[in-house]
Amino acid sequence: MIKLYWRKIYKFFLDILFPIECVGCGQEDLWLCEQCLATIKLKEIDSCPACKKISSFGKTHSWCREQTSLDGMIVAASFDNKLLRNTIHKYKYNFIKELATPLSMILINKIMELDKKEDKPNWVNLLFSSDLILLPIPLHKRRLRWRDFNQAEMLSKKLAGNFYLNHRPYILKRKRYTTAQTELKREQRFDNIKNAFQVTKEWQDKLKNAKILLVDDVATTGATLNECGRTLKERGAREVWGLVLARG
Ligand SMILES: [Zn+2]
Ligand SMILES: [Zn+2]
Repeated sequence: MIKLYWRKIYKFFLDILFPIECVGCGQEDLWLCEQCLATIKLKEIDSCPACKKISSFGKTHSWCREQTSLDGMIVAASFDNKLLRNTIHKYKYNFIKELATPLSMILINKIMELDKKEDKPNWVNLLFSSDLILLPIPLHKRRLRWRDFNQAEMLSKKLAGNFYLNHRPYILKRKRYTTAQTELKREQRFDNIKNAFQVTKEWQDKLKNAKILLVDDVATTGATLNECGRTLKERGAREVWGLVLARG
């Protein structure tokens, strides 16, 4: 309770210190203007979630299948883009919820690009159908209380609205609190996140053959997405893909 109170005060001062202006050019009254958003280029080359080497549509190479539970991962843009990095930072750590709209546009545009190509993987064909489930990576309730919103859930909700997809944020939940992945080294991240998720009671018998697109803001090692995919497949999900703004 007290924490929440301090968070509100903190947010109040943030609003004074950082009035509404474009993260890119400083133009007033909006958080990211269209011109600046357009400078965040979509990634043209997709890569395998396990080895990070080139792979069409970000599909997991057949020889990398043992290293990841994901069937593939789509990375929309590059983390080398400073504006994208700054925007994601403002969104998550200055709690600017409104940035979910321009950030989700990046994901939507990337998906539209994939949709134009030939030989699309199954999940791209499932867009605009009710067979694909969008599942944002859940936050632990302690972190949710701190941020007041789940950054992945807001992105996934906007995507779902755009493509008329099923948005199901409550299939997975965190069963224990974990150290923020950003504070750990690569090897530690996989251990830290191991068994951190579980399928909620309501969904335990409903995942057979499910096709799921996991949504998160940023992936680094991919350990979190991998662990979610593993947990879902244990319950019968057939295909699990990841979709993120950038890979750090
Ligand atoms: Zn701007
Ligand atoms: Zn690979």
